[in-house]
Amino acid sequence: MSILESLPGYSGRNSPERESEVLLSLVASGLSSLSGWWGQVDRRRPYDDRLQLGLDRLAVACARQGLEAPVGVADLVCSWCAGRPMRDWPLVFDPDAQADGELLLIDGVPSEFCREWVRATRDLVADVHESALVNHVKDVARALGRPELYAHWRMLLTKKSVLSAPEMIRQRNRFLDVPSWAVWLDESYEPVPSEGTVDGWIAVCPTCRQWMSRDGGEGWVCPSWRCAGHRYGSIPSMRDAEGAYRLRGDLVGYIALPGQAELRLAEGLAARGARVVVSPGYDALDTVATWPGGFAIGVDVKDWRNPFLLARKIKKFPEWSGNHPYAYDKGFVAVPQDRTRGRQEYLRILRKHSTALQAQPHVQAITIEDLIQQCPDLGASGVVICGP
Ligand SMILES: [Zn+2]
Repeated sequence: MSILESLPGYSGRNSPERESEVLLSLVASGLSSLSGWWGQVDRRRPYDDRLQLGLDRLAVACARQGLEAPVGVADLVCSWCAGRPMRDWPLVFDPDAQADGELLLIDGVPSEFCREWVRATRDLVADVHESALVNHVKDVARALGRPELYAHWRMLLTKKSVLSAPEMIRQRNRFLDVPSWAVWLDESYEPVPSEGTVDGWIAVCPTCRQWMSRDGGEGWVCPSWRCAGHRYGSIPSMRDAEGAYRLRGDLVGYIALPGQAELRLAEGLAARGARVVVSPGYDALDTVATWPGGFAIGVDVKDWRNPFLLARKIKKFPEWSGNHPYAYDKGFVAVPQDRTRGRQEYLRILRKHSTALQAQPHVQAITIEDLIQQCPDLGASGVVICGP
């Protein structure tokens, strides 16, 4: 029995779809571990074990179909991941996965399809490193009985990808009764390295609010897949890099980027008069919004390009009702509108493949913009609150 077959998430080992998922998860997570937010391959670890394991399985799959297999990890990465769309791999996918034309590597960095595949199938190939700090902050806040600390930490990371030296001091001193707070910030931000600057400046993307990387010359590019289509269109805002700090690359991808959609929803609901609590119950939901009349909604925000992969990550909503401080009347899984633009099937595929949505018919899948439009509007501003 292989290591994979002994993993708790492994089942149906005879199904070609399952075998394809495991193989692709190994390759995709191996690729992702080699590159950070800025897209550079970590040359200290040229080959991840998972790439070799994926290569072994691919060789078997190729032999079964009479195809020529990649001759090594370098061939797998350069020829297959960067040059061969999924339809040309000896793999079997559900048609709703919409995998046919997808590449794993684009311009030398893992594609959005590759990254979402890793997030959707993490139970197949354990990779807990990415969220170690997140779990640590959550655990300490829980032990202190201070859920708002976790919510404030997330909110700060979502709003500020670059902090000036005075801002860093002010932020570190926000919760003087909690010494861990300053340590969390030290671990979340790093001094801006000289290679991340031009003439003493660092650029921040006006669209996703994250720090940008140099394009090889004096210009800037935003590494976010969200911004890839208009990376040359918008003018970055420049920040003085002297003594400044930038958010760690892994936290950009894990917290700050997905946090942008959550923030937009929270601000949109508050603008309609709601009292909006973000990260209630340590992320049990992303948002609970309550209007003065008592009407309340609970929302989980998901910013994914592929609805088939997202379907696996929809979780069971907490049963908060009656006198619970976060009691809500209606539950929603909300996705940014641009994810569904030109893709009428998006919400249908999401509903069809999510066992969590099927088990909770009272939870509705909707776009963020439609949800905001459907909510009451008091004509007066509410407030966004970081717990408790
Ligand atoms: Zn951007």
